[in-house]
Amino acid sequence: MSMKELQEKDLKYVWHPCSQMKDYEKFPPIVIEKGKGVYIEDVDGNTYLDAVSSWWVNLFGHSNQRINDALYKQVNTLEHVIFANFTHKPAIELCEKIISISPDRLKKVFFGDNGSSAIEIALKLSFQYHQQIGKTNKTRFVNISDAYHGETIGALSMGDVDLYSKVYKPILLDSIKVEGPDCFRCKFNKERNTCNAECFINMEEKIKIIHDEVSAIVIEPLVQCAAGMKIYSPKYLVKLIELCDKYDINLIADEIAVGFGRTGKMFACNHAQISPDIMCLSKGLTAGYMPLSLVLMSDKIYDAFYDDYNTMKAFLHSHSYSGNPLGCSIAVETLKIFEDEDIINKNKIKSEYLKNKVESVLKDIPYLGEYRQLGMIGAIELVKNKETKEPFESEKRVGYNIYQKALKKGVLLRALGNIIYFMPPYVISEEEIDFMVEVARDSIIEYFNENK
Ligand SMILES: *Cc1c(COP(=O)(O)O)cnc(C)c1O
Repeated sequence: MSMKELQEKDLKYVWHPCSQMKDYEKFPPIVIEKGKGVYIEDVDGNTYLDAVSSWWVNLFGHSNQRINDALYKQVNTLEHVIFANFTHKPAIELCEKIISISPDRLKKVFFGDNGSSAIEIALKLSFQYHQQIGKTNKTRFVNISDAYHGETIGALSMGDVDLYSKVYKPILLDSIKVEGPDCFRCKFNKERNTCNAECFINMEEKIKIIHDEVSAIVIEPLVQCAAGMKIYSPKYLVKLIELCDKYDINLIADEIAVGFGRTGKMFACNHAQISPDIMCLSKGLTAGYMPLSLVLMSDKIYDAFYDDYNTMKAFLHSHSYSGNPLGCSIAVETLKIFEDEDIINKNKIKSEYLKNKVESVLKDIPYLGEYRQLGMIGAIELVKNKETKEPFESEKRVGYNIYQKALKKGVLLRALGNIIYFMPPYVISEEEIDFMVEVARDSIIEYFNENK
């Protein structure tokens, strides 16, 4: 079947995620046949450099030989088994390994099957924990502005990206939003590399008043990815954990996007040398292969559930695919690759290369507001007015148009609003970084030449 025929069939039946399907009339879905390394290839043989790691999940390239082998081996041994009263080696090995590399409070692991479900689990755990230790007033959750924690009702309730949540407001949990860091447009006139997280005052003052009713604060450590790769200072996290400990509030670190080396350290929390009570992991956990998530927690949380059955303190949450062995075996192999191939150190050189490369083309980029980078995440924020940092009107769909131009040039650079970002698989080479950055530059220039 030709590309066109496949596209027609697709649009007859499929509803794609995060899309206005009417857009597909002019811009039908590209039918991908295969992937290798940082490239994906469509049925006509066109290749695209996957600069967004297929929505932030891929770490070691498409069709990675080591992971393929681990998966084949596992699928020929055990594909799945009920995880209540049963267990298996891949789950045991994964949990032992993940606890050994995670922040020190985290001692136990609960399984989910995607990022949003990990957030749901974390919220339920925190709420039930406080019920069971007798702090029954602690029933509410706090998040920060521009937060994103997923799409299911509980997770969406913790978010603050109107685009995704506004219409559902009447059916969401009533979370408490506190203004968080906004370093590019800092209201305290500071800079993220030298500030003392002055903006934390908003959180401190709010929590001082409402701490009696707060069960947990949910946060994306260091980078608010969905909000447009907004990067803030680790000092904010240092202050946050102190505040949480002071008032018996659980800190839920959502490392779903930033975990597994994205920010230059294994976990973003490591930059601040803090340990949350609960940490959510997914995305890179399986290097982009399978849906799987983990919720790590401290003994303090776990112990509040541990009692005779009839006390009814158990955590009776489950998913049909809890602890899926295929996902676990891939995750184990992923962690082995980190060790064997010294990924964190190698990424230091790569992220430095990326930074230098982008900085060398910045002078060419019109309407540049800021380039910010942390580890293997880089983001170019385009603004309508450089002085006032006024953003482009969202109706102009600046990023979406640039994205389409970049695709024609062979790079998948899915933008977030007016922010063009790089979040490539770690196997990207220096030549491929050059190509990715040059295509971004050329696409931006071309768009603005055509849309003065
Ligand atoms: C992607 C993401 C989620 C949701 O994960 P899904 O697997 O898409 O449900 C939650 N939090 C953050 C920070 C994310 O980036």
